[in-house]
Formats: sequence, structure tokens, C-alpha cells
Amino acid sequence: MSTETGFGYTKIAQPNSTGIKVIVVGAGFAGLACAIESRRKGHEVYILEKFKELKVLGDIISFGNNTGRIFERWGLHDQCVFWPICTHHTSLTIHNAEGEVLVVQDLQNPLFGAYAYNGHRGQLHERLFNYAKSIGVEIRLGQDVSEYWETESEAGVICNGERLSADMVVGADGVRSKARTLVLGYEDKPKSSGYAIFRAWFDCEAQGVDKDPLTDYMSKNGDAFHGWIGRDVHFLASTSGGGKAMSWVITHKDDADIAESWSFPGKMEDVLAVVEGWDPRCAAILSKAPSCVDWKLVYRDPLPTWISKGARLALIGDAAHPFLPTSIQGASQAVEDGVTLAVVLQLAGKQNVPMAVRAWEKIRYQRVRRAQLLGESNRDMWHKAKSNAEGETVTLPRPEWLLGHDAEKHAYEVFETTVQEIQEKGYELPTLPPPLPVVAVAA
Ligand SMILES: Cc1cc2nc3c(=O)[nH]c(=O)nc-3n(C[C@H](O)[C@H](O)[C@H](O)COP(=O)(O)OP(=O)(O)OC[C@H]3O[C@@H](n4cnc5c(N)ncnc54)[C@H](O)[C@@H]3O)c2cc1C
Repeated sequence: MSTETGFGYTKIAQPNSTGIKVIVVGAGFAGLACAIESRRKGHEVYILEKFKELKVLGDIISFGNNTGRIFERWGLHDQCVFWPICTHHTSLTIHNAEGEVLVVQDLQNPLFGAYAYNGHRGQLHERLFNYAKSIGVEIRLGQDVSEYWETESEAGVICNGERLSADMVVGADGVRSKARTLVLGYEDKPKSSGYAIFRAWFDCEAQGVDKDPLTDYMSKNGDAFHGWIGRDVHFLASTSGGGKAMSWVITHKDDADIAESWSFPGKMEDVLAVVEGWDPRCAAILSKAPSCVDWKLVYRDPLPTWISKGARLALIGDAAHPFLPTSIQGASQAVEDGVTLAVVLQLAGKQNVPMAVRAWEKIRYQRVRRAQLLGESNRDMWHKAKSNAEGETVTLPRPEWLLGHDAEKHAYEVFETTVQEIQEKGYELPTLPPPLPVVAVAA
């Protein structure tokens, strides 16, 4: 069945009707989103994923309303796929290190006509993975892609020794992307961001959260969301499942040079040292976790381009643009990337895949960079706030340009003019947007 978008294009096409063959490398959120939307748009798509079996990994992850809009369009809200396993807090209470409340921020959900979804990364990922399979996306597990190549007429990969080809390849292979090397022509070296994050997810009842007066408010009245900010540190704790599961993240200064990893164990004494002398509720919440992960946050300068010379290979998600957690947009922008790519391929047609890929980069690049910069300004706002914070804002911005955006609709709207611009001026490397206005914070 097909429906119209109102922009004169077919929104849902017959499977494999465009004749465009797409190989997606990586079944993270970026790769899954791209493959799901590609299937909906009529492309012939399959995913090559390195992991041999799906495991429920990670802890808290957030999808903004801009991505919720897409999930809802896929029917994931109405079919109760995501919502029941998400956090349902309605506000964020931010305290200073002494425990005084600086602000109670209303987190209205839905906002700008769509829901935001925050929950366990592994659980949400498992559900999206199963949804992709249910609509016919082929996901080949245990496939380690070692090389990428392209010619004028096709692109492909070497995977487990086999040479595979398609009209285009999507490198959705995460922060340690191999696809990035072909696109850039050199290996992009990450650098320390100067910050690390300790993170944990655990069961409230098993860890006695509801028995301790310093922590019981997190679980006894449904889901709760509290934050504490101090110089160079922010600590966020939230519960989900009606107060059943707790997750926390604590970001702090750290220049130690270890690899970026979602499974490197953290030491609880190091975690507690960060909040020494702080409101005792902080240590109480942190010490309830049976274990935690130490995630060294590496940083990369914006890549000069996300697409290969022949424009048949595109990097999406973390492979193209890793995010600071304070942007709360890394996963959302990954999904937007994938959806936009599927739309422009549909609009361009099989004979014009490179033009579609160039237009995709132009449509996405500045928006993604703006969302990345918001992460930096949010972090600075929290890490530099005065402890009494009188008159200064520590409220998380929730701008309409970011959360009210509809990536699919936008792609339909701007594709033609974007192509025209490229045809008139020729392809140009993307340019960075002007810096965001400086947030007023104490020095
Ligand atoms: C195990 C894990 C746990 C995570 N936990 C959290 C979390 O708790 N909170 C949070 O905010 N974010 C977490 N993230 C990161 C988050 O998922 C991403 O930042 C965001 O969703 C963007 O996703 P992505 O698809 O671009 O990248 P990723 O989610 O990193 O997905 C990339 C995928 O590519 C696959 N891949 C890599 N190389 C190859 C190759 N050569 N051949 C084939 N496949 C390959 C990887 O196995 C992976 O499945 C986690 C990521 C991973 C991989």
C-alpha cells in the first residue's frame, strides 16, 4: 500500500520498486533507521553487522521529539513498542552541589506534536531491530566489513572475504568507523575531550533504592529525574518503568587516555571521589549501583565531508559525527541521517545516486553541526554555573528548530532546490554554520 505525503511524492513504495540497491554496514540505530526507511521507500537493502548475536547492551539513551515523530510514523508508538519501556518523568529538578534546587524544568512530552523516548539503549535497540526484521529488512549478523570500494557505477565492500556490490554503501559503523577512512583518505584520530562519564543502570528494588531516605524519592512515586551540577561536573539520575530501574550518568573532567568503550568498568571509589563534599544524596544514589562503566569521552573535529569522492559511500550516525551526551541528540541525528538518505535516493532515482548522496550531505551537515554545538554550550552552561545561580539559566534548551524538525518532510521539501544549487555551482565541501549565540554563564 502507498500513501501520499502531500508533497506529491509516494511515501511508502512497493518493496524493491526503485531498483536501488543499498548495503548498510552496522545495525546500530543509524543503520537500522536507514534500512527501515529504505525498505519503506522501495530500495533493495540489507544490513551487514559485525556482532554475531543481538545482545541487550548499554544503559540510558534519549531520542528527542524530532526522532519520536519518525518512530510514530513507523507505528512504533501506537503498537506500544517503545513507550511502555521508556521513562515517564515529567520534570527535571536541577540542584547545585549543596543540594539547593536551582530549577524545576517542565519536560512536557509530547512537544511540538511528537513524543520523546528515553530508555534503556539495549531494550530500545532490540525492539527496533525486531521491527526492522518484521517489515522485511534483511540483517546479516557476524559480518565483519574490512574494506570499502567504489567505481563510477557502483560501490561495495569486502566482508568476511566476499566482495559485495550495490548502488551505494552506507557506513553506519559507529565511532570507530572503517568506512570513514575511505571517505577521508586518511585515518581520523580521535582526541580526548577532557571529560569522562561514569554510567550505570540497575534494578531499584534489588539495590534498596526505595529503602533509603536519601534515594527513595527516585522510585516510590513513579519515575523521577534529578540532576546536580558543580564546577566541571554534572550528575543526572533518572528512573524508568514506574520507578523500577535507575540509571545515572556523571560527567567530569578526566584526561586519562583509554579507548572509547561502552564496557570499560569504572571503580566506585573514583565515582564517589567526584562528589566528595556534595549533597549526600549524590553519594547515596551513586553507591546504589552494583557496577558502572567508565566511558572516556573522545572528541573529533567535524569531518570535512561525510561522502566519498564518487558519492556512492556515505557515513551516517556516529561514523560521521559523534556527539557529546549533553546535546542529547546523538542517536536522534543518527536516525534523521538514515531517513533523509532513504528519501533523497527515492527522489533522485537509480540513475542519479551520486547526486542524491551529495544533496543528502548538503541537507544534513549544518543542522547536525548546530545540534553538536548545543551539546558543548549545554555542558558549559552546567559546568560553569555559579553555585547560587541567581538570575542565570541552567535550564536545558529545547528549541523548536531542533525538536520540531521533521527530517522526512524536510527532505521532500528541499531536495529539488538543493540539487539545483549543486548543478549550478558544482559540488562544494560543506561549510560549518555560524557559532551559536553565547549562553550567559558565570566565568
Ligand atoms: C554496545 C554499545 C552500547 C552503547 N550504549 C549506549 C548507551 O548506553 N547510551 C548512549 O547514549 N549511547 C550508547 N551507544 C552509542 C549509541 O548507540 C550511538 O551513539 C548512537 O545511537 C548512534 O548510533 P550509530 O548507529 O551511529 O552507532 P553504533 O550504535 O555504535 O552502531 C554501529 C554498529 O556498527 C557495527 N560495526 C562496526 N564496525 C563494523 C564492521 N567493520 N562491520 C560490520 N559492522 C560493524 C557495530 O557492531 C554496531 O552495531 C552504544 C553503542 C554501542 C555499540
